Amino acid sequence: MTYQNTLQFAQNLDQEDTLKEFKNLFHLPVHEGKQQIYLCGNSLGLQPKSVRQILDNELDKWQNLGVEGWFEGEDNWINYLQHLKEPLGRIVGAKPSEVTVMNNLTVNLHLMMVSFYQPTPKRYKILTEGGAFPSDQYALETHLKFRGINPDEALIEVFPREGEFTLRTEDILQKIKENKDSLALVMMGGINYYSGQVFDMKTITQKAQSVGAKVGFDLAHCVGNISLNLHDWNVDFAVWCSYKYLNSGMGGVSGIFVHKKHHQADLQRLAGWWGYDEATRFKMQKGFVPMRGADGWQLSTPTILAMACHRAALEITDKAGIENLRKKSIKLTEYLRFILEEFNQKNENILNIITPKNPEESGCQLSILVEKNGKELFDKLIRNRIIGDWREPNVIRLSPVPLYNTFEDIFRVGEALG
Ligand SMILES: *Cc1c(COP(=O)(O)O)cnc(C)c1O
Repeated sequence: MTYQNTLQFAQNLDQEDTLKEFKNLFHLPVHEGKQQIYLCGNSLGLQPKSVRQILDNELDKWQNLGVEGWFEGEDNWINYLQHLKEPLGRIVGAKPSEVTVMNNLTVNLHLMMVSFYQPTPKRYKILTEGGAFPSDQYALETHLKFRGINPDEALIEVFPREGEFTLRTEDILQKIKENKDSLALVMMGGINYYSGQVFDMKTITQKAQSVGAKVGFDLAHCVGNISLNLHDWNVDFAVWCSYKYLNSGMGGVSGIFVHKKHHQADLQRLAGWWGYDEATRFKMQKGFVPMRGADGWQLSTPTILAMACHRAALEITDKAGIENLRKKSIKLTEYLRFILEEFNQKNENILNIITPKNPEESGCQLSILVEKNGKELFDKLIRNRIIGDWREPNVIRLSPVPLYNTFEDIFRVGEALG
């Protein structure tokens, strides 16, 4: 498609957009009486208007029913999780039994590694992307130390080549091959938070499993952003958060995926009563018997208020349809790239967009490396009501989100830059 840097052109695309009404389902941030152009869904998705009502409902139940809220009525808390599993399954490409909702992301990463990282003296290495999100780095480092394994020996980080900003799949596959006898686990992001690069999860999974390793992905930047097919890709496990592209609120409850092929296996796990076989959970007997499926990894009483936000938000994503969202997203992001490149031509190419151009390798986020005065440029954008985020040392991230961003928003970015 050919794009134009005019308001009319942008407004025409908005007119044709079949998802244009979804924006009205969100509160768009306002600063000093002016609406912001919010391009920061990669960090915190916006608040769905329906969240307040659903929270009110749950607070009313608590107020009026007390503990009986767990059991009373169709919409009781005991079965609350059931409202989330089907829409989430559709969003990540999984069967409902393969997903559950619990805890927060980093906690879940540790819990999944308890089950899927089973080192032996011969097979103990973990491969990850160099420059992974810090929480993932710390989780891997300390998890290894906890197992009595030296991270310097066991952790393989794959970095971009000299002078490049993104990883080559062939380099990841090569490292897997080089470590084929000692590799226990591949655990990496599905999208790198800094560069916005989407990794070829299907190919990486196949290769890693072919040498006898397990594979897990941190999908914090993927879920609600790109199309996923976790079941068909045969991924062993995955974890994600709900507060970025799933718009479920600050520190909202996290999700996990455990492939069906592991549901009958007696995997190691750290357990709590909420993962206990539902039929006999309240007999309070000795000896842990897990529920089948991902639900068997739950530990604690579900956080109903966070799940209520999640439920309201998932309904919106599910209604729009992840495939439709993705189609619009590709166009929005292409338009943003077009606008940035046009600015670049007039300004000595000061912006270096490090996110790959190929839509297979990028989600909605563009990461813009600015060698000189990057922070000043970022602050200027903020003063012009353009809300992105800044990642040290020199990257601006802008993420047009198809649920609530418009082509006009993108045009305004160009206007502000100019
Ligand atoms: C946002 C993000 C996290 C955050 O983890 P929390 O436990 O929710 O704080 C972790 N990993 C990645 C890749 C992220 O993008």
